[in-house]
Amino acid sequence: MTELRKVIVVGAGIGGLTAAIALQRAGWKVKVFEAAQALRTGGAGLSVMANAMAALHSIDAHVPVEQAGQVIQHFFFKKQNGDLIASMPIHEIGEQLGHPNVNIQRPLLLRALAQQLTPDTLTTGLRCVSYAHRPDGVRVSFEDDSTHEADLLIGADGLNSVIRQQMLGETPTRPSGYIAWLAVTPLSHPVMTEGYVAHYWGRGKRFGLCDVGDGQAYWWGTCNHGNAADAALSISKQEVLSACTGWAPEVIAAVEATPESVILKMHAQDREPVEQFCDGHVVLLGDAAHPMLPSLGQGAAQAIEDAVVLAGHLARTPDLRTALARYQACRHPRANAVVNAARFMSGIEQAESRFGCWLREWYFRLTPQSSFRKKNIDILSFEPSA
Ligand SMILES: Cc1cc2nc3c(=O)[nH]c(=O)nc-3n(C[C@H](O)[C@H](O)[C@H](O)COP(=O)(O)OP(=O)(O)OC[C@H]3O[C@@H](n4cnc5c(N)ncnc54)[C@H](O)[C@@H]3O)c2cc1C
Repeated sequence: MTELRKVIVVGAGIGGLTAAIALQRAGWKVKVFEAAQALRTGGAGLSVMANAMAALHSIDAHVPVEQAGQVIQHFFFKKQNGDLIASMPIHEIGEQLGHPNVNIQRPLLLRALAQQLTPDTLTTGLRCVSYAHRPDGVRVSFEDDSTHEADLLIGADGLNSVIRQQMLGETPTRPSGYIAWLAVTPLSHPVMTEGYVAHYWGRGKRFGLCDVGDGQAYWWGTCNHGNAADAALSISKQEVLSACTGWAPEVIAAVEATPESVILKMHAQDREPVEQFCDGHVVLLGDAAHPMLPSLGQGAAQAIEDAVVLAGHLARTPDLRTALARYQACRHPRANAVVNAARFMSGIEQAESRFGCWLREWYFRLTPQSSFRKKNIDILSFEPSA
């Protein structure tokens, strides 16, 4: 009997867990090492867009995710006072593509993925510190001085990836120019219908309100900040309420309903795109490879696409280095295009000048639904054999 190929995945985030599922189902012996003591319980919510659901579907991992989330039915762009600017045909696009767009609480998404792994796949509380190439594989070192060997190492360790740092050296993060607050809270409000998503636009400020199911709302707010990277990350609910004074009643109701202790505050950041995602028997995916600003709701989706495409190439191409090179060639153009598009969209959404805000509103009001549909189809489509 031939021995199973071994893979070590560093990071049990969305990308790492998806890669672990895909490779385990393809017959690999998989070990996932996570630095935190347990899967993340914070991180509020996120949207798992249709391209990510299609990728999960292609490895038969979509059902638990869909069950734990809420399919998006309506997507609106609104003024800060709640007046409608435009609606996006996101539900129709999902139907056309055959895969829904799903809002979900991040811990539920992680659990829905982790439950699909065989027992003992995941080790928590163990931080990877470095790796060393071996003739036919890789040796991975952890902070407790233990080492593990494998045929393949996947660096799925997020924005501040140590695997990326070793592979590519210093590649500084780029600030977004704003800080973000986010939380999940129970919320009942007449505006919040089933599957509701709305982005409210102010001057240099935004607010998002999303139904994540089970009577829970995921909200996020952003505010331009001259030196966002140095902004204090201490949380004050009053700070959020002050930022949205006079905004739509449902926005204020969401913040007011939220216990201060569950509000997160962060700086959104990305990195200049690179074209190298692999070196020898080591490969990067998700935020470790191409962190992006959250404007398009695509960071996790691209991590999921990476994981599925990587597993596909490894299954189809017997030579590991060739498979990794094919993965890199096929993923960097798509993922890096999304990094650039997210930064561009972020500039539009965080517009602060009166003219910039007027132009944004005018453009979104006048753009026909067919044009929104066309623009979104590309990004929300996933080709499993890509
Ligand atoms: C405000 C905000 C909103 C967002 N909204 C959306 C959205 O709606 N839709 C969407 O698709 N994306 C969204 N994103 C982006 C998305 O959250 C990320 O792109 C996604 O989490 C990346 O997944 P990942 O698995 O690559 O990395 P991560 O989720 O960062 O996971 C990395 C894991 O690796 C672990 N780790 C780190 N270092 C080590 C180490 N040395 N050893 C072992 N383990 C380690 C970490 O603890 C973590 O568990 C949003 C991001 C932000 C900031």
